[in-house]
Amino acid sequence: MQKIPFLILFTFALAAADAPAPVSAEFDWPVEKEKKYQISSTFGESRIDHFHNGIDLPGEGIKVLAPRDSRILYRINAEITPGEMPFGGGNTLILDHGASAAGNTWTGYMHLNAVSDAVLKNAPLARGEKIGSSGNTGHSGGAHLHFFVYQTGERAVVNPLLLMSDAYYRDKKPPEIKEWGVLLTEKFASVNPEKPFRLSSDFPVYALLQDHGVGAERWGVYDYRVLLDDKPVISATFDKILFRNDSWRLASGQAFEEIFYRNQYSLTTGVRKAKRLSIEARDLKNNVFRKTFDLKIQQN
Ligand SMILES: [Zn+2]
Repeated sequence: MQKIPFLILFTFALAAADAPAPVSAEFDWPVEKEKKYQISSTFGESRIDHFHNGIDLPGEGIKVLAPRDSRILYRINAEITPGEMPFGGGNTLILDHGASAAGNTWTGYMHLNAVSDAVLKNAPLARGEKIGSSGNTGHSGGAHLHFFVYQTGERAVVNPLLLMSDAYYRDKKPPEIKEWGVLLTEKFASVNPEKPFRLSSDFPVYALLQDHGVGAERWGVYDYRVLLDDKPVISATFDKILFRNDSWRLASGQAFEEIFYRNQYSLTTGVRKAKRLSIEARDLKNNVFRKTFDLKIQQN
């Protein structure tokens, strides 16, 4: 009997080392049930010059639901705004779900085509109550709900998928590398790391990492890390993004420009002398891509 707790602890320790992050279910999904499986963009993806700060749920006119009891913190709508809308979110709603150890938690909804009567009346909203419907207002290339979660205590946007039951979307495929390249000042040159290639200088190396759910989704990864000759050179986790010194940074400290060049993930600032590059990338359901490349770099 004495040994059982120890055995259980040991098993837990192994599982913890392998699992990307604990997923809680403090929020319901913010859209009607039959649409729950669709995600078109994940948290932390590149938006060319900034991190995507939420998730995108595609579709026009999808019922948007309060994921928890809330009150309305902020609302802006083209109908009540003379002239231009001030930013790209289109019709936007921000709800306050009250205080917790992490400060107040707010959730945001952008590109809405309409809001519910309860929202128009500024009434308190119950968990599961309809708050509006998805649309294509503001800077949006197709109807979708942009959903984000902000915590005032840390001044951080949090990956919404960490706060909602993960039973509602499917992700069975590990991330993959779609493209590799070196950045020659402003130009990106594709390379195949499995074949010999020439480098005249120590250019930074990038790769297009892509995760897929069950089919053709093109999501960002949840985390990745890179080893160069077995030494860690970069690692990043897209669990939250904090506002510090006038810029948004990952908890590990990097700003957007340190992680991305356009939509390519930074692997290392240079490989010229390296023999081996290892990369590991994971999604939130712990599907793992892991590979070591033996580099054959010709120097001239
Ligand atoms: Zn979005």
